[in-house]
Amino acid sequence: MKQPTPSVLQALSCADDYDPNSLPVSRARELILSLVAPVAGSERAFIRLGLNRVLAEDVIAPVNVPAHDNSAMDGYAVRHADLAATGETRLKIAGTTYAGKAYEGALTPGEALRIMTGAIVPPGLDSIVIQEVVRVEGDSVVIPPGQRAGQNFRHAGEDLKAGQPALKAGKLLRPAEIGLLASLGQVEVTLKRRLRVAMFSTGDELGSLGKPLQPGQVYDSNRYTLWGMLERLGCEVLDMGVVKDDPAALEAALLEATSCSDAIITSGGVSVGEADFIRELMARLGEVAFWKIAMKPGRPMAFGRIGGVANAGNGAWLFGLPGNPVAVMVTFYQFVRPALLKMMGAETATLPSFRVTCSAALKKAPGRTEFVRGLLYQDNGEWRVRPTGAQGSGILRSMSDANCFIVLEHERGNVAAGEMVSVQAMEGLV
Ligand code: AMP
Ligand code: MG
Repeated sequence: MKQPTPSVLQALSCADDYDPNSLPVSRARELILSLVAPVAGSERAFIRLGLNRVLAEDVIAPVNVPAHDNSAMDGYAVRHADLAATGETRLKIAGTTYAGKAYEGALTPGEALRIMTGAIVPPGLDSIVIQEVVRVEGDSVVIPPGQRAGQNFRHAGEDLKAGQPALKAGKLLRPAEIGLLASLGQVEVTLKRRLRVAMFSTGDELGSLGKPLQPGQVYDSNRYTLWGMLERLGCEVLDMGVVKDDPAALEAALLEATSCSDAIITSGGVSVGEADFIRELMARLGEVAFWKIAMKPGRPMAFGRIGGVANAGNGAWLFGLPGNPVAVMVTFYQFVRPALLKMMGAETATLPSFRVTCSAALKKAPGRTEFVRGLLYQDNGEWRVRPTGAQGSGILRSMSDANCFIVLEHERGNVAAGEMVSVQAMEGLV
């Protein structure tokens, strides 16, 4: 069912703490997230194709994992009740059982079964004694005291229970989930369709790769960082190239992008001075708010929709990012990424951040959030952070050298060397 999209401006005007000239980072993120919605549409695919994609439906476990009670160790399966509370217990060895085959024999009280890791534990036996602690004498095994009931015993369904949801809709599939689906015997899963994201750069000064730069030109790096960030999120990227600072060209590009995408990302041309004709243009094509976000880098940003009802498929959400290369990356990670994840249908969780000692002093003005590019490093076994040198919003090297953002909160002032700061790690393990 198509859900009505609340008017962006309507939603904004209802917010009494809304100041488009100094919007706190958290407020801008909330506003964006309150407007975008998951796209409709899903497809069945081989589980391996689900990596980095979002589950569209719960996966109900068709079987127990593990399927049977089984042994976690090589040793002897016993009835705990047969073991003496103090002193050794001698049990007759009834036979041996291996992983992959059920044990056919019957056991009587007072008997133990030699068992290998993963082998089914026959009914009645409830504990596994590891082979390293026992003594085998002829056809008997001598078990020392102190064995715990239920030890080294893996219960059927202790990992995943048949009939229960093994994975919930909205789960972003990582290698663990691909393996978990395989452990259930699933060949295919239902995935949310991939998000279509159109992007273009704006600026008369942008030169193309493969051509020498003319005086005053810079190579268009933003489309390459954006491409990388979108690819990593698993989006279908529609690269529309460079669009000149010309209202007619921008209008044509925005309309084309809207016709074939769920979201449009542009860079450049949203700061004061340039914004005037874009503002008028965007107001005509949809509903777009221009924000000055209380942050550094990344102050100017536009957000809104172009065309019809963006969530319903006949319009697209627009993220008009600033032009400076570092500002593009910071605003993408802080605002666009969570929004796209929500649109992909992924359950979004706040990224973990943690506090470490900052080894350098940092200048910081209260009243805005700053994202300093930082390097987490080890010093005598302790993790610390330091900034990655020059922090200009055009210095992309500050991102390349970094492994984290040092997040200096809105109200915070200068940081003295040795103070604790919050960091957001850039790379995860999985
Ligand atoms: P703007 O926001 O359009 O005023 O651009 C701010 C700064 O970012 C200017 O120095 C631009 O030259 C630079 N810039 C804008 N777009 C790009 C891009 N695609 N690649 C690299 N630099 C850019
Ligand atoms: Mg520009």
